[in-house]
Amino acid sequence: MKENFPVRTKRMPWSACPNCLADLKAKGMERKPQYLVDCPFCGAPIVPIWWWSTLRSILALALVLTIPAYLGLGKGVTWIFLVVLLCFPALVFAQFLLITVIPPKYVRKGQSVVTIF
Ligand SMILES: [Zn+2]
Repeated sequence: MKENFPVRTKRMPWSACPNCLADLKAKGMERKPQYLVDCPFCGAPIVPIWWWSTLRSILALALVLTIPAYLGLGKGVTWIFLVVLLCFPALVFAQFLLITVIPPKYVRKGQSVVTIF
């Protein structure tokens, strides 16, 4: 008589909450360019794992440096101005792209992570 209990797979889900192990890559959620600061199920403060944040920063940096150049916008000071202007949208866009390709793993806020997985 266990039909009413949520199905717990034996393997921990990739985007599991480190506190309650709920799968945070729930239906429809992965499409939002969201930045989870706490678990929607148990409310524990969480952050994406360090290498995911690093990847996002690298991707955002690559976008912000290449998009103005690709569009042929600006040289010198104008280009620097555009880079500064595009920093935040690039970060959001990079996060959206990265969530689609690599779902983030979450760790407890302030917890030091020894392994990359
Ligand atoms: Zn949780």
